Amino acid sequence: SRGKRGYVVGGNWKCNGTAASAAALVETLNGAGPIPENVQVVVAVPSVHVPLVLGSLRSDIEVAAQDCGANAKCGAFTGEIFAGQLLDLGVTWVVLGHSERRAAGESSALVADKCAVAVKEGLRVMLCVGESLEEREAGLTAQVVASQLAPAAKKLSKADWGKVVIAYEPVWAIGTGKTATPDMAQETHKEIRTWMSKNVGADVAASIQIQYGGSMKGANAKGLLSKEDIDGGLIGGASLTADFFNVINGVP
Ligand code: PGA
Repeated sequence: SRGKRGYVVGGNWKCNGTAASAAALVETLNGAGPIPENVQVVVAVPSVHVPLVLGSLRSDIEVAAQDCGANAKCGAFTGEIFAGQLLDLGVTWVVLGHSERRAAGESSALVADKCAVAVKEGLRVMLCVGESLEEREAGLTAQVVASQLAPAAKKLSKADWGKVVIAYEPVWAIGTGKTATPDMAQETHKEIRTWMSKNVGADVAASIQIQYGGSMKGANAKGLLSKEDIDGGLIGGASLTADFFNVINGVP
């Protein structure tokens, strides 16, 4: 059963927009009606727009960064953002290991180091995993996802995992309009939960929230969110429009 797990719906704005368009999107979200009480809503905004969004967004939506550094402190790390600096601004979440960053060369080991720093500083983490089309067609989905989680399992304590949600995002579904069917997604979500049970602990596996991501939108959210092991979504394209709230309102 779902137990006590609520839903987490994240909007991933990616590297989109201007200050003016970010302000307009905040206005759209602010006017979009109530959020069901079993849903936690978070928007991952470009770091340059964080102060603007934090200063104007409704208080029942939290703000995430889309990455942070693996260094455990501020210092001579040009271009990096330290997790503690995000907290200092009022950011409470960070997306780590998104497939677009992995494609740009980020390893699962680096992602795990970032997770450890972020959690230690007090951020909550959306840890992204997911297979490519080739890997799915070769029957490697469970193996790939396990290999992406394993370095994090080495670095994080059970208590640390309490600050983490896993975003399962099949790479072939991101930005393509091709969503995993609810049954396909459920199958992998269950495999992730089983892996977590064997490698981290049954208690963590039962309580950790697993989001689905990849062309999720209002029109397909209900089917996905009705599945036992799907505890929310990470929404890219549709989070840039009012349709984001149709996903939020799609929770059972
Ligand atoms: P998409 O992106 O909803 O546009 O497919 C999801 C994501 O990359 O998090």
